[in-house]
Amino acid sequence: MVVRCSCGRVELEAKGKPILTSACYCDDCQRASRQLESLPGAPRLLGEDGGTPYVLYRKDKVAFLKGKELLQDHRIEGESFTKRAVASCCNSAMYLEYEKGHWFSLYRDRLIGPIPPVQMRVQTQYKPEGAVLPNDAPAFKAFPPRFIISLLRTRLAMLIGL
Ligand SMILES: [Zn+2]
Ligand SMILES: [Zn+2]
Repeated sequence: MVVRCSCGRVELEAKGKPILTSACYCDDCQRASRQLESLPGAPRLLGEDGGTPYVLYRKDKVAFLKGKELLQDHRIEGESFTKRAVASCCNSAMYLEYEKGHWFSLYRDRLIGPIPPVQMRVQTQYKPEGAVLPNDAPAFKAFPPRFIISLLRTRLAMLIGL
């Protein structure tokens, strides 16, 4: 699947199936999405319910096709190991990276093609007051075991070379 900034100068490729798809409602994602979507010309990131949809891929399944030099790291205050890569050409947020982690959380709207549906909504205890969540996927107040197990299983597969 191709991951493309809104002007097309930055392109990544995500190979195979994602680890999972989720929408996150944590304070940091809300704050970062609000900051990044307020950059000049930036596409929207936050859903109407305050969630930011992501598609998680193993880092080794993501290839940088073009425009890598246009990516700029954004960090929000208080987050030490998390950064968000933004295509400086058009201010499209491309992915979130937990530096110690083995996955990228790609901003779902940047994916081209048959985008997998949101499987779960996480950290909903932080959703904006009065926000109504869609019924299309299970919602969890924190990170559900399923989320953590998927990441651990992926890490294990990478360690043993699958
Ligand atoms: Zn661009
Ligand atoms: Zn979050």
